[in-house]
Amino acid sequence: MPEIDAKRAEAAVRELLIAVGEDPDREGLLDTPSRVTRMWSELLSGMSDDPSRHLERTFEIDHDEMVMVRDIEFTSMCEHHMLPFSGVAHIAYLPGATGRFTGLSKLARLVEGYARRLQVQERITSQLADAMDKMLKPSGVLVVVEAEHTCMGIRGVRKPHTRTVTSAVRGIYRTDPVARAEAMAFVNRSN
Ligand code: ZN
Repeated sequence: MPEIDAKRAEAAVRELLIAVGEDPDREGLLDTPSRVTRMWSELLSGMSDDPSRHLERTFEIDHDEMVMVRDIEFTSMCEHHMLPFSGVAHIAYLPGATGRFTGLSKLARLVEGYARRLQVQERITSQLADAMDKMLKPSGVLVVVEAEHTCMGIRGVRKPHTRTVTSAVRGIYRTDPVARAEAMAFVNRSN
């Protein structure tokens, strides 16, 4: 849990309730400030974390082809509206000369760490690619994130179930269009 200023957060929620014309002292709202504060402290628990630490322990296997992990689920909070967006991340990488690999559970924790913050989808995508690049030193990394944004579904243009797709490429996937096309084909295979 991050060191969030619970007193201040509770006062702010109470203030927001008053600002929207509610009575924060009516029965149904009495515990809302502390409940919302506990929820936010969970939703933002990645803020005090450096998620790339989950990639510190890697292993070596005799394999020099692309590794692809699909459909790593996450929920994050849009920093523009403070509403959730959720979806899946796909991570493909081609091991480098040092041949370092990581496991599925580590990748899931990596995604979780970057998701549990106020975020924009583009930033999560590039943070994932950068962390993979820095920690595993692969020849190439491709990250694709697909998510539905609550703020697009319930307000403004009201387009529910619209998926936003972002991608970030590093190394050979940036410089070699054939390698990138092969990786993208893997990402899209069972869609
Ligand atoms: Zn938004």
